[in-house]
Amino acid sequence: MTRLDVILVGPPGAGKGTQASLLAAREALRHLSTGDLLREAIAAGSELGLRVKGVVEAGHLVPDELVLGLVEERLGDSGLPGVLLDGFPRTLRQAEMLAGAFAARRLEPPHVIEIVVPDDEVVRRLSTRRTCSACGPRPAHEAACGTCGKPLGVRADDRESVVRERLSVYARQTAPLSDWYRAQGCLDVVDGLGSPESIAGRIAAIVDGARGGGAGNR
Ligand code: AMP
Repeated sequence: MTRLDVILVGPPGAGKGTQASLLAAREALRHLSTGDLLREAIAAGSELGLRVKGVVEAGHLVPDELVLGLVEERLGDSGLPGVLLDGFPRTLRQAEMLAGAFAARRLEPPHVIEIVVPDDEVVRRLSTRRTCSACGPRPAHEAACGTCGKPLGVRADDRESVVRERLSVYARQTAPLSDWYRAQGCLDVVDGLGSPESIAGRIAAIVDGARGGGAGNR
């Protein structure tokens, strides 16, 4: 199967992580979440983790070069299955640097899918989100992680004041990416309201269109 690379864009709480896991499994893509990579570094207490802990927990963005480095070393070349980027790029500069990394590897530009969810819904979702330190976000009805049994907690950056800061960072620094990718003809937009399965269906239809050489619902 030819390589296909996908970028999922959307505000925090849009369901990017859930949708990325579903799509990566369906399309055999390598799922790269810069948020997960940074949280792993923080949990491990590595040099990188110590450097970014305060920034991540305040809901701000870590420096562009630093996240690009994490992604670039995992991109692979044209012979490998594609990657599914979740939470990267988040600034125009990251998008430009990523475009350069793709061009240097002679890879086709990625397909960008934006998941749209209103701010109020984001705040509602994230302020009630419970997370397992090993397995990530868990369904709201679980008292303990249904996969590994660990107690659930609230992510440091899911407190409401930090969620509002993350939303304002998104509006200022990440939302402009939509127009940038739209101008290049590689953006599709999906409604992020509804069941995870229905949203996955919308995304799958776009990816099937891209695989078939079509333009999805572009
Ligand atoms: P996420 O899990 O994608 O919501 O990311 C959690 C946090 O990690 C963000 O609020 C940022 O502090 C940091 N982060 C993740 N991805 C990036 C990125 N592409 N650029 C800068 N900071 C990032």
